[in-house]
Amino acid sequence: MMSLRLPSIDGLLRHAACVPLLARHGRESLLASLRQLLDELRPGVLSGQLSAVEISPEVLAGRVGERLAQQQRSNVRRVFNLTGTVLHTNLGRALLPDEAIEAVQMAARYPLNLEFDLASGKRGDRDDLIEGLIRELTGAEAVTVVNNNAAAVLLTLNSLGARKEGIISRGELIEIGGAFRIPDIMARAGVRLHEVGTTNRTHARDYEAAISPRSGLIMRVHASNYSIEGFTARVPTAELAELAHRHALPLLEDLGSGSLLDLTRWGLPAEPTVRQALLDGADIVTFSGDKLLGGPQAGLIVGRKELIAKIKKNPLKRALRVDKLTLAALEAVLGLYRDPDRLAERLPSLRLLTRPQADIFAQASRLQPALAEVLGEGWQVRAVEALGMIGSGSQPVARLPSAALCLRPHVSKRLRGRCLLNLEAALRALPIPVLGRIDDDALWLDLRQLDDEPAWLAQLPQLQVEP
Ligand SMILES: *Cc1c(COP(=O)(O)O)cnc(C)c1O
Repeated sequence: MMSLRLPSIDGLLRHAACVPLLARHGRESLLASLRQLLDELRPGVLSGQLSAVEISPEVLAGRVGERLAQQQRSNVRRVFNLTGTVLHTNLGRALLPDEAIEAVQMAARYPLNLEFDLASGKRGDRDDLIEGLIRELTGAEAVTVVNNNAAAVLLTLNSLGARKEGIISRGELIEIGGAFRIPDIMARAGVRLHEVGTTNRTHARDYEAAISPRSGLIMRVHASNYSIEGFTARVPTAELAELAHRHALPLLEDLGSGSLLDLTRWGLPAEPTVRQALLDGADIVTFSGDKLLGGPQAGLIVGRKELIAKIKKNPLKRALRVDKLTLAALEAVLGLYRDPDRLAERLPSLRLLTRPQADIFAQASRLQPALAEVLGEGWQVRAVEALGMIGSGSQPVARLPSAALCLRPHVSKRLRGRCLLNLEAALRALPIPVLGRIDDDALWLDLRQLDDEPAWLAQLPQLQVEP
C-alpha cells in the first residue's frame, strides 16, 4: 500500500482553493495557519489514520479558512439581551442614543477642543465641556467627571477625607458586583472607616457620638442592590446634612444610579434624584453615567464649589479622568434631558424601561410561531407575562411587568436541566448570540429589549439544538 503524503506548503499556497484565502487574510496569516494545520495532521498521516480526502487541498483549505475566519472575528460581539435585566452590567449597561453615537463619531474622527478654550484661545479644562449642562440639570454649584462611579467615590473620599475618619452607617457598608466594597474603597482612599449604628437601624445620635476632631466626613451610600425591610431606621439626608454642617463636616452621598429626573412621571419606581440629594444638603453627590442616566460609562461628581475645586486638584483626578469619546457622548445624552417631554422616545434606556407590557406581549405572540417551528416537537413555546428588572443596582426589589417567550422541553424532569443548558448554549452560538435566563425549569426570553426583530428572526433557522 502506498503511504499518503501531506501536500507541500508551496503547492497549497498556489492551489485554487487557497487563492481566495490569500486575498482575504494575507500571506503571513495563511502561511501560519497552514503550517499549524499540517503539523497537527502529520502524526495521523504517518500512522495511516487519515484518508486521502481528509488531507486533500480542498479540505485543508476549508479547515484553514474556518480557522482564519474565527481568528478574524472580533472579540467584542453584539448580543441580544433577553435576560429581562435592562441595565445589565455584564452586557454593557445603557445603550446610547443616536445623538451620542454621532457625537462619539465626530470626536473619534476629528481633533476637538477637549482642553482648549475656543473663546480665549487658551488651555481649557475638559470638565468645562459638560459643567454647564450638569449644573443646569442638577442645581449643583460645580461638577467634575471621572471614568466611572467607583472612581468618583474613590477620588472624593481621598480628596476630602484622607488620614481622617469617614463616618458611615453599618447598614451602608455595601458590596456592589465586581468587587466594589465600600470598606475597601475607603481604605484605599486613605480614609479610616468609622462605622456607626447597626445593620438595620442607625440613628442621628449614632452619628453624633462618632464625631471627633479626627472626623473628616460623613458618608451616605444608596443601598443599590439590596433592601432592608422590617424594623429599620435611617436618618433622612436633610437631617444628616444639618448634623454634618453643625460640626463643619462635609456630607457625601453616593447615589449609585441616581436619576436626573423623577422617574415616577413615567410610571417607574421612584429613585432618588441628584437634585433632591443636593437640596437636602448633601455637599457632594456621586453617580454613574451608564445606569439610569442612560449615557456612557462615567462617574459624575457634583456639589459645592470649594469641595469640587479640592477634588479637581487631587493628582488622582488625572489618573481617573474620562476620555474624549465619553465626554462627547455624555454631553449629547445630557442635552436630551433638557426636553423631558421627549426623553422617553429619544433615550434608549428610558424607552426600553417604559415599554408597555401589552406591546411586549404582542411581540412575544407574534414571534412565538417562528420559534416553535424551529424548535420543533421537543419544545413547548409560549408567549407569557414575565417580570424583569431595571438592573445595575436601581431598585433591586422592583419588578418591571414584561413579557417573554417561555421555552420548556417535553422531557422527564431528570433530563430537563441538561436540555435547557443545551438550548441556552445553542442560542449563544448564533451569529448574534441570544442571551435569556433559566428559571423554574424553563428558558425565558424576555422581549422588552428586542428592538431589532428582523435580525433576530433572520438567524433563527441557524439554531442547532443538541437533542
Ligand atoms: C453602581 C454603583 C457604584 C459603582 O458605579 P460604577 O459606575 O459601576 O463604577 C458605586 N456605588 C453605588 C451605590 C452603586 O450603585
